[in-house]
Amino acid sequence: MPTYWECDRCTACCRWPGQVRLNDADISRIAAHLNLTEDEFIQGHTRLDAQRSGLALRDHADGSCGFLDGRGNCRIQPVKPRQCSDFPNRWNFPGFEAICRARPVEVSAEEWERRVAAPPPPFKPRSARGLPHGG
Ligand code: SF4
Ligand code: SF4
Repeated sequence: MPTYWECDRCTACCRWPGQVRLNDADISRIAAHLNLTEDEFIQGHTRLDAQRSGLALRDHADGSCGFLDGRGNCRIQPVKPRQCSDFPNRWNFPGFEAICRARPVEVSAEEWERRVAAPPPPFKPRSARGLPHGG
């Protein structure tokens, strides 16, 4: 049975050093969600990625993602980039479980496909998760 990693919405992955790379579909979807043209979105919210081969989301000064708000919510959660929605089920890295609070659940192959294809659920307010404010 495949393992589905059920996200805890702890937002740790929104704070890790690194970059959130964007594909063309991400740019179109997020720009439309923000009522911006693609050019406005690119100019206002993206930067050149580290490989200088594409675009990534801008970061806050502390290195966290620029779309992580002060209450620990993703401001583009329903349309977040593929890189975000695919982690940790479609991609992850050795030892990710030590810093990601996703819970492993054994599911059927059909259920795994259904879950990874589902739109991301809204982040819960931090107060409801019993976590300190930050971000
Ligand atoms: S786009 Fe949203 S989910 Fe992705 S890193 Fe930024 S805040 Fe986190
Ligand atoms: S994927 Fe992991 S690190 Fe990211 S918000 Fe979910 S539980 Fe936290």
